[in-house]
Amino acid sequence: MPEVKTVIDDDRCTGHGRCYAVVPALFDADDMGRGTLIVQDELTDEQVQEARTAELNCPERAISLVD
Ligand code: SF4
Repeated sequence: MPEVKTVIDDDRCTGHGRCYAVVPALFDADDMGRGTLIVQDELTDEQVQEARTAELNCPERAISLVD
């Protein structure tokens, strides 16, 4: 099973807050309201599904999953 992690592209994130509203278990906000990662390690299968939900909900396409 490949190791999967979440990445936020800080250049694309504009702080809509969808990620931490939809998946608060994996995402939080910084002082500017931009998305930050709570889990920076390898994701569990369940967390991968949650991260994909956040990926789909990010208006700026700033969230991606990488192997
Ligand atoms: S949903 Fe996307 S643009 Fe909005 S805070 Fe999260 S990463 Fe940033």
